[in-house]
Amino acid sequence: MFCCSNCFAHSWLKMYVNEHSDSTGICGFCGSEDVRLLSVNELAGPFRNMLSMYVVAEAFESGEPLLFLIQWRWDVFEDDLAESQQETLLEEIVNSDWDDDDGEDRLDAKELYMPKASQWFHNTHSDTWEQFCSDVRGDSEATIPFDEFMAEELAESEETLRAGMIFSRARAGFTLDENQERFPWSGTEIGAPPVPKARAARANAEGQVVLYVADEEKTAVSEVRPALGFYVSVANLTLRRDCRVLDLTKVLPELNPFEGESIGWRIEIRDLLNRLGEEVSQPLERADDLTLYLPCQRLAEYIHQNHYDGIRYPSALNPGGSSIVFFDPEVAEIGESKLVKVTVVNFEYEVDDEPRFADRLKAASLEWNRNRTE
Ligand SMILES: [Zn+2]
Repeated sequence: MFCCSNCFAHSWLKMYVNEHSDSTGICGFCGSEDVRLLSVNELAGPFRNMLSMYVVAEAFESGEPLLFLIQWRWDVFEDDLAESQQETLLEEIVNSDWDDDDGEDRLDAKELYMPKASQWFHNTHSDTWEQFCSDVRGDSEATIPFDEFMAEELAESEETLRAGMIFSRARAGFTLDENQERFPWSGTEIGAPPVPKARAARANAEGQVVLYVADEEKTAVSEVRPALGFYVSVANLTLRRDCRVLDLTKVLPELNPFEGESIGWRIEIRDLLNRLGEEVSQPLERADDLTLYLPCQRLAEYIHQNHYDGIRYPSALNPGGSSIVFFDPEVAEIGESKLVKVTVVNFEYEVDDEPRFADRLKAASLEWNRNRTE
């Protein structure tokens, strides 16, 4: 059987079909005429990669038809192609190299499947991290759940910040000169605190000195959470050397499910990196329950041990902005500082009813079934 690029919606598949085709004619699935054709078995490998992240649902688990799952997540087939044709094409591709000696059943596109990650006995990295966050608050020595390979995986979010880059750092309030005039905190007064004053925070334990900076002035000011009418001192800091940071704000390119055999694993790593970004940027209550800092402190320690100079994370207080914590407080030179007065404090809110992933999947599935029966 031969298919053509018009059968597919996924851009990589369209390209793959055209590049590997060595004949033209009428497509056996969508009926397109005078198109480049590719034998379905040429796509068996790429489809197996994608399907490696799904498993047949057990009777007691709630699965979805395989075709629905892959269309919803990856937009594989062209919508104009009738659903029964999509099912046939999927089966033809995957079963094209089926061998009745290897003990596996032929694929049935109508069978109920589920993403491996949501199977009850499978813990994703994010699940494991979640568990650690809760464990470490009771036992600060709890083992961080990252194995030796994790450091390599994290490298996907590595970024180099170049010497000469300028950052901002703020300190609430001001100092008074001999004439009782307001002056901004400057020099070491606005730099990293000395050891006795280094209070426990997101990325450092009590007495451990690190340097927190922001990407821009507005982020720095927002992060000290000043009230309307308050004064804030702000300084520029210049990076003295190149620094290798774990950048949790980095937007990672869309993964291609058809290339690479460990796609499920890579998706989990993506999820974990996003989860860590959320963890680090979470604004904490001022009601200083110091155990709340423990998961992030332990993460920072792990990142530091893996020879990173710091972590960049999204600012929860200035959406779109970012903060960076450097493990070496001497890494940046403190420049000029100035005093600003807060004139507007902006905030927005929403009702906390974000549906869970499982509920969104269910809703999409109902919609799909409705369209199918109409
Ligand atoms: Zn076609």
